[in-house]
Amino acid sequence: MNKRLPILLASTLALAISTQASAADDRYIIKFKEGKGPAVKAMMENNGGRSALALEKRNAMAANLPAKALNALRNNPNVDYVEQDVKRYPMAETVPFGIPMVQADQVIDAMAGNQTVCIIDSGYDIAHEDLSGNNVTGSFDSGTGNWYTDENHHGTHVAGTIAAISNGVGVVGVNPNGNLKLHIVKVFGADGWAYSSSLVAAADECASNGASVINMSLGGTFKSRTEDQAFADLYANQNILSIAAAGNDGNTRHSYPASYDSVVSVAAIDSNKVVADFSQQTDQVELSGPGVDVLSSVPVGAGLSTTLTVGGNAIEASGMEDSPMGTGSGALVDCGLGESTCADATGKVCLISRGNISFAEKVQACEAGGGVAAVVYNNEPGMLFGTMGGVATGIPSAGISDTDGAALLGQLGASTTLAIEASDYAYYNGTSMATPHVAGVTALVWSHFPSCTASEIRAALDNTAEDLGAAGRDNAYGYGLVQAKDAVDYLTANGCGGSSGGSSSGGSSGGGSGKPCKGKNCTK
Ligand code: CA
Repeated sequence: MNKRLPILLASTLALAISTQASAADDRYIIKFKEGKGPAVKAMMENNGGRSALALEKRNAMAANLPAKALNALRNNPNVDYVEQDVKRYPMAETVPFGIPMVQADQVIDAMAGNQTVCIIDSGYDIAHEDLSGNNVTGSFDSGTGNWYTDENHHGTHVAGTIAAISNGVGVVGVNPNGNLKLHIVKVFGADGWAYSSSLVAAADECASNGASVINMSLGGTFKSRTEDQAFADLYANQNILSIAAAGNDGNTRHSYPASYDSVVSVAAIDSNKVVADFSQQTDQVELSGPGVDVLSSVPVGAGLSTTLTVGGNAIEASGMEDSPMGTGSGALVDCGLGESTCADATGKVCLISRGNISFAEKVQACEAGGGVAAVVYNNEPGMLFGTMGGVATGIPSAGISDTDGAALLGQLGASTTLAIEASDYAYYNGTSMATPHVAGVTALVWSHFPSCTASEIRAALDNTAEDLGAAGRDNAYGYGLVQAKDAVDYLTANGCGGSSGGSSSGGSSGGGSGKPCKGKNCTK
């Protein structure tokens, strides 16, 4: 199966794969010789094949094929090749700390109306206060429905990073003044995957709608010739720079479309400019962007806002994914590891250490003891982002850092309130969140030099990235953190052609790490 996923949280991703990879799923892309489309289609249908999608601009079609039709097509002289129609999924996880980090606040976006960023994702919540004022168009897709709704939430988060409006509420994006043009192509519904052929069709739809930059916070393990050729064509012949997520599997494998030569592969770094442990490290990684704890827009009411106060002081807390909304108030009680019913918790807020069992079991132990809310503190450095993993609980729950946990152990009995409420914003983690930082910067920089080519803009971004990790390009960070102002200064000084015409060639370093789960989908 060759699929493209939104680079979403790992558990969501696994679910999507397991439920979709059924035996009946025999969809292929058929590449035929110029002018032979009708003949090939007729032959395919005579052998029991069913057309799924025409790719007229690619002399190709996607179809569901029984074995008979597959064999007939593979032996047909009018057919160049038949390949599995692999799937594409959206990619996700977590702040506008990224906006100054990429120098977006140092470059004016007044000219951004000469650029169009096309977002291929799960749609765009047009009702959102930070997105409704944008210069945005979209394409209707019979498979996924209206582009201006977002059942998956991923696309709306990506869009906010590129262009959330500076309006005094919510967040701001890389291009915050509503000047940048956006075009939305919705390839992901609520369940979140698409075929590679759908991605090719979407990219062509972007081109037809004037895109200069394509944002693809998505990917999959297997490559597709059709995709490879399409993105190469868009880059070389249609002056479009495609930006895609390096992948969230924390290994050294390539993900596609990010790893085609014509596509910029983006790694995720945190607020300390350290590569995320989930970010895939490969010789195709080209640039890095903020991709850990990224705050952006989500469809109205789809986010959670978490507030924890202890003894009148606010403590940074992250609501557990799948936690019910609500407020719990009471004295703070120590429940240790929460491995059995928490004694003396009636009407209190449980403080529990991470470790040994799942977060859901710990929250249940609190609830069984009469607790009204549960706070789990990390047992390793850093904030705890956790999930109930779909387990229903009756009390609100949240994670906090190891250091806050240690401090709160000294405040047992203090009046504590945990409130989890609906919000229009959320923190996500993922190379999916790094990608729109780079795509937004690409358009912002390009808007100041509209006569430069896609490859010239790409070279300027590579040449001016803030080198991170091993000196020079490396597989974890590529050339480093994308820098908007430095790229503008470089092009101002050197012109479109740059000082030496930057190029990308590989180095190698690093590998995945097997550290404890730090993503939003940690269950224990
Ligand atoms: Ca705003």
